[in-house]
Amino acid sequence: MPQPSWNVNEIFYSIQGEGRHTGMPAVFVRLAGCTMNCPFCDTKYAARDGKLMTGPEILKALSAWPAKAVIITGGEPAEQDLPALIAVLKDAGYQVHLETNGVRDTDVSRADFVCVSPKKYVSADMLKKADVIKIVVGQDTDLEDLQKYYAYENAKTQIYLQPESNKQENIDLCVKLLKNHPSARLSLQMHKLANIR
Ligand code: SF4
Repeated sequence: MPQPSWNVNEIFYSIQGEGRHTGMPAVFVRLAGCTMNCPFCDTKYAARDGKLMTGPEILKALSAWPAKAVIITGGEPAEQDLPALIAVLKDAGYQVHLETNGVRDTDVSRADFVCVSPKKYVSADMLKKADVIKIVVGQDTDLEDLQKYYAYENAKTQIYLQPESNKQENIDLCVKLLKNHPSARLSLQMHKLANIR
């Protein structure tokens, strides 16, 4: 039987630049493909380019670095067999963080940390599974949607507002929104500000 494989855009070692774990060294496994085509997407290249890798091939790539934290991102990871990939990494002893748009309801029960950055058609069930709901805020952000996401905030789930592209006008808007909803938090894309790859 052929080994399961995943279409991988890139695997690289860097620093988490966003949200609760900002500053944490981690290996990023960026899966290829995403059907959403958001206008502000900063990883459009990942929707196009990928190569198939088996679990052992992914683990071999990860073994090049000392970090035990892996961030599965994309593209959109849930468009592939995400539970199986999480299992491969967990079984190998990695701490698994996930970044997803939350559109596909997926079993993420073995992940250590789930960040949902909600897009149109986000699944309510995925919002309930999120440790963090990270909302990208730009000038055209629908404030009614924001209220809907705020409803999922609870002792487990923290809301972060992240200014689109670190633009000052979007930072200003986030600060205004946060002052009206102080239980949420600001997430800047630190890796871009610090020019970290
Ligand atoms: S869902 Fe995420 S990866 Fe997909 S197009 Fe939108 S921003 Fe890009």
